[in-house]
Amino acid sequence: QQPDPQAGAAVKAADRAHVFHSWSAQGLVDPLAVAGAEGSYFWDYDGNRYLDFSSQLVNTNIGHQHPKVVAAVQEQAARLCTIAPGFAVDVRSEAARLIAERTPGDLDKVFFTNGGAEAVENAVRMARLHTGRTKVLSAYRSYHGATAAAINLTGDPRRWPSDTASAGVVHFWGPYLYRSHFHATTEEQECERALAHLEEVVAFEGPQTVAAIILETIVGTAGILVPPAGYLAGVREICDRYGIVFVLDEVMAGFGRTGEWFAADHWRVTPDLLTFAKGVNSGYVPLGGVAISAEIAATFDRRPYPGGLTYSGHPLACASAVATINAMAEEGIVENAARIGESVLGPGLRELAERHPSVGEVRGLGVFWALELVKDRVTREPLVPYNASGEAAAPMGAFAAACKKAGLWPFVNMNRTHVVPPCTVTEAEAKEGLAALDEALTVADRYTV
Ligand code: PLP
Repeated sequence: QQPDPQAGAAVKAADRAHVFHSWSAQGLVDPLAVAGAEGSYFWDYDGNRYLDFSSQLVNTNIGHQHPKVVAAVQEQAARLCTIAPGFAVDVRSEAARLIAERTPGDLDKVFFTNGGAEAVENAVRMARLHTGRTKVLSAYRSYHGATAAAINLTGDPRRWPSDTASAGVVHFWGPYLYRSHFHATTEEQECERALAHLEEVVAFEGPQTVAAIILETIVGTAGILVPPAGYLAGVREICDRYGIVFVLDEVMAGFGRTGEWFAADHWRVTPDLLTFAKGVNSGYVPLGGVAISAEIAATFDRRPYPGGLTYSGHPLACASAVATINAMAEEGIVENAARIGESVLGPGLRELAERHPSVGEVRGLGVFWALELVKDRVTREPLVPYNASGEAAAPMGAFAAACKKAGLWPFVNMNRTHVVPPCTVTEAEAKEGLAALDEALTVADRYTV
C-alpha cells in the first residue's frame, strides 16, 4: 500500500475529535493511525511497518487478516448476520462443540459473551449461585477485565479507581519467585508457601463464605508469571477441600498462546469454570465465554440461569471462532507456538539477557514471554517504580520508542516488555523481533547502575 500521510492525518483528526479512548487522559492520547495489517505485521499511513510483538492486546493468535477467517465472516454475513441467543443456530452449535472438545475435563457446556470481562462476570455469578456463597478470592498481580466484578477481582492499579464496588472480593499473593512474597529461594518453596498462604486466607475468611477462587492459569498483563509445578494442583485441592469453585481465567493464556490449546493443559488441571475470549477467534469479531463443568451446569438444569446478553453467541463471532479453531488445527498453529517458544524465543531471549544488564529475568513459554527490566540485577530494583507514570516512567518510554524505531511494536507494562507475537509467527519473524529487541535494550541498559 502506498503511503498517504494526508489520509492518515484525517483519520487521526476525526479520532481526536470524537473517539474517547480506554485507560487514557483524553487530552494526552496520541494514537497511531493504522492503514492495514497482515499476518505478523501492521502499518501506518506514513510508510512505517511494524512487526506486531504485542498481538494487539495479546489477541491476534492467528495473526492479522487470516484469509480463512475473513472468508468465514464474509460468508456468514451473507447468510445470517444476527439471531437472538434463544435460537439454535448452526455456527453457534459448532463453535460450542469445537470449544468443548478442547477444554479440559468435563467442561462441556459453553455460555457465550462478547469478551473476557463479561465471561468473568458470568463465571462469578455461576459460582455464587452454585455455592450459595458470596466471597471470591483473586490474586494480586492479575487482570480480569474492566466491568464491575472483573475490575474488582483485578490485582493491579487498574482496579484502584473502581474499588468502591469490591464487596466480597479478597486478594491473596500468588507465586512469583523472582520477587517472592514468601522469602522463598526455590520453586518448590515458593509453591509450598504460596499454597499455605492461600489456605490461611481461606481459613481466616471462613471457608463456608468463599464461593470461588479465580486465577489466571499463567498471569498475563501483570507479568507472565508461570506457576511452579504443583501450584495449580494444590489450588484445586484447596477448592475441593472446602467446596469452593475453581475458576481459571484463560482469556489471555488460552487458545494456543502457551503452545497448548489451554495453559491448564501444561499441568493437566481441570477447573470448574474456565473463561476465554481473545484467541478463541483472534478478536476478529468480539467473543468470549465460560466453559462450564457438568456439576455446575446441572445446577441450572431446572433452575433458570439468571444472566444473558443480546449478542450471546453472535453468528458472526461464532463463525469466526469456528474458522479460527479449524485453521489452528489444520495449520498446526498451536504446535508452531510451542516450537517457536522452545527453539527461537526462549533461547534468543535468554541470550539477550546475557548481554544486556537491564534484563533481570526472562520467563514464559510458547509465544507468551516477559523480559523484566531492572536498574540493578543484584538488588532487582525495577527499571521504573511500580505503577510509575510521567517522568518516572521515562526509561520504559525510551525503550518502547527504540522498539518502534527498530520496526517492532512492543507490549510494555510497568518495568516489563512482553514478547507476545501471534502464534503463527515464523522463525524468521521471531529472529527479526529479537534483533529489534537487542537494539532497543541498549537504550534500557543506559538506565542501569
Ligand atoms: N481476563 C484476562 C486474563 C485478560 O487478560 C483480559 C484482558 O486483557 C480480560 C480478562 C478482559 O477481557 P476483555 O478486555 O475482553 O473484557
